[in-house]
Amino acid sequence: MPAAGIGSRLGPGSPKALRSVAGEPLLLHAVRRLAACPSVGPVVVAAPPDRLPEVESLLAAYDVTVVAGGAERQESVAAGLAALPDEVELVLVHDAARAFVPVEVVEQVVAALRSGADAVVPVLPVADTVKRVDVNGEVVATVPREDLRTAQTPQGFRRSVLEQAHRSAPRQHTDDAALVEAIGVRIRTVEGSPEAFKVTAPFDLVLADALIARDGPRRPPGG
Ligand code: C5P
Repeated sequence: MPAAGIGSRLGPGSPKALRSVAGEPLLLHAVRRLAACPSVGPVVVAAPPDRLPEVESLLAAYDVTVVAGGAERQESVAAGLAALPDEVELVLVHDAARAFVPVEVVEQVVAALRSGADAVVPVLPVADTVKRVDVNGEVVATVPREDLRTAQTPQGFRRSVLEQAHRSAPRQHTDDAALVEAIGVRIRTVEGSPEAFKVTAPFDLVLADALIARDGPRRPPGG
């Protein structure tokens, strides 16, 4: 679970994963949600390097190893991968910022891996019309959206595939599926969820508070 981002688009304050949502850090919501997934085993959290003791005590009740994240998301994921127990063969990479992903989405990703996929990504269709613009902000083209999807997490991988992709990554990518695409591995998609939105901008904190108010803070999803 990469959780080391600053979250500059949220404005000044703590690193994103430690921002408070309904009175608790976003990261605690995220780990609690993964821990509620029947197929999820031990979790490795890549945390802001200067906040490790705080994150360790925050997550002490869970089966979590905390490692120092890197300057870029990809480096944080690589640090987490390096700390996985030897016996792990299937890996989910999940943004702490997508703290409210429904359990059903996580389980579908795992089910696709168990049925033989090397790589699995939850996706959503694009609701808005998509425009390509130039450097001046003028519209150059309208991009047909029928075959476009937005990619969420958790993204699931056979460990050997993800490790190979990270070893051969020539540049930074914004998700792990892109690294795996770059080495020519086929990626299966499953249906994502609007509730797996990534907390990015201040409005997303409003949305997160609303979701918790709807569900109650500790109600297991689907329960
Ligand atoms: O910045 P963005 O929202 O795309 O980050 C996605 C996830 O990657 C977040 O959970 C964030 O904490 C994490 N991240 C990280 N290390 C970084 C940058 C982002 O673990 N250097």
